[in-house]
Amino acid sequence: MKKVPIAVAYGDGIGPEIMEATLAILEASGAALEINRIEIGEKEYMKGFSAGIDPSSWDIIRKSRAFLKAPITTPQGGGFKSLNVTIRTTLGLFANVRPCVAYAPFVKTKHPGMDVVVVRENEEDLYTGIEYRQSQDTYHALKIISRPGCEKIIRYAFDFAKANQRKKVTCFTKDNILKLSDGLFHKVFDEIAKEYPEIENEHWIIDIGAAKLADTPNAFDVIVMPNLYGDILSDVAAQIAGSVGLAGSANIGEKHAMFEAIHGSAPRRAGQNLANPSGLLLSAVMMLVHIGDSKAASLVHNAWLKTIEEGIHTYDIYTDAISKVKVGTSEFAKAVIERLGKEPDQLKAVKYSGTSKHVLQGRQETAEKKMDSKEIVGVDVFVDHHGDVDKLHEKLMRLSLGGLKLTMIANRGVKVWPDKHPETSCVDNYRLRFMALARGGSVSRREISGLIQKLADAEIDFVQTENLCTFEGLPGYTVSQDEQ
Ligand code: NAD
Repeated sequence: MKKVPIAVAYGDGIGPEIMEATLAILEASGAALEINRIEIGEKEYMKGFSAGIDPSSWDIIRKSRAFLKAPITTPQGGGFKSLNVTIRTTLGLFANVRPCVAYAPFVKTKHPGMDVVVVRENEEDLYTGIEYRQSQDTYHALKIISRPGCEKIIRYAFDFAKANQRKKVTCFTKDNILKLSDGLFHKVFDEIAKEYPEIENEHWIIDIGAAKLADTPNAFDVIVMPNLYGDILSDVAAQIAGSVGLAGSANIGEKHAMFEAIHGSAPRRAGQNLANPSGLLLSAVMMLVHIGDSKAASLVHNAWLKTIEEGIHTYDIYTDAISKVKVGTSEFAKAVIERLGKEPDQLKAVKYSGTSKHVLQGRQETAEKKMDSKEIVGVDVFVDHHGDVDKLHEKLMRLSLGGLKLTMIANRGVKVWPDKHPETSCVDNYRLRFMALARGGSVSRREISGLIQKLADAEIDFVQTENLCTFEGLPGYTVSQDEQ
């Protein structure tokens, strides 16, 4: 059988131990893999590669069918970038699939029967990491949500549900507050849901949705959400299912795929033969399904279930009442190898087939779309200003604004001019809203650059501008609290 090339990174902390355990099990299963090892993580950061990877390793990853990655330690601060985010975005791995399953009564859980798949968007949202310090006291982070990004991840969630006989896809957003960005995610969800009439769909506001997930996870099946919410809630879901140490994940793109445990490098547990390799092993099972080796995937998954069922547990899931033997990482791997070919008696055995679509390749619809007509109707200018809003307003009143008029000054989203409420507290970052003087009129780019020139002449410390546009006549910007 021709071996399938796989890029493998041992990572940091507990990474090397859980990777050795996982590879030993894969080898014993007969999976035909050509392992191509690459170095990532702390050592590479220290060599001066700010993304934690030697640029030559990209070639190996690109030539491999999949990338199996152990967790790495991300050094704090110092200009180091998260390698995980770099890999996901560089390779276009837009879907992060995180099954969170309870193994009651063999692993302690408050939620027996839990079987939820979190599908997390992987390329956008606050994870683009675009942040600015705009003034002495104020920092901004950009949350980027695009229509193609939403379409890809939401279609993926429905395709995944369909291929895996799942009944329902739920969407979590905070679109009651983030009306445009999360609003788009929700809107696209409603549009795409119509293409899958056989699958139930629903939307929850993330706060109450998260509470419901933590309390009654059995009410959910597949949940799709933007990047940050998905990051947080998949950890919560994995932990309440039994342990973060048990959950694997697949990062899927149109051309590449990366598989990793959802937990980190747990440096305090490193080098002691303590860590649970299950998260990485279950990720490897997803990888085997992905590359079409359903036989090895079923063998390994069932042997693992049998090991868990027999109470052979690492420290993180060991409890006197349930477990039989407390084992270290390598003994756990040995126990799984000994059980290859066996199936669990009580837990549900898995049976992947040649056509299993447990993990799908991503796809994007390429239908031509009509461009919305766009018109600039105003501009917001963020300024660094220490002190009173009235002083700032006075300065602005001295300017001749031509075809523009100042309609509002806001601070952290709250209107503070005209009619500031005495209780509203301000920081040193104000937003000036200028609209076309003629009601409903448009504004030219030349007028905007003229305005910026005037602000500079008046020594107003502008730090950022945002054009206010309408699309098909509808505002592409939000109004502030209390703005008319
Ligand atoms: P962590 O997930 O590494 O560990 C938190 C705790 O969970 C550990 O102290 C340990 O008690 C337990 N734990 C985690 N995995 C376990 C396992 N397999 N077996 C047994 N117990 C386990 O989270 P952290 O301590 O916040 O992060 C440590 C480092 O990992 C940081 O540098 C962080 O940036 C990095 N990290 C990497 C990834 C990744 O590479 N994908 C993901 C998350 C965090």
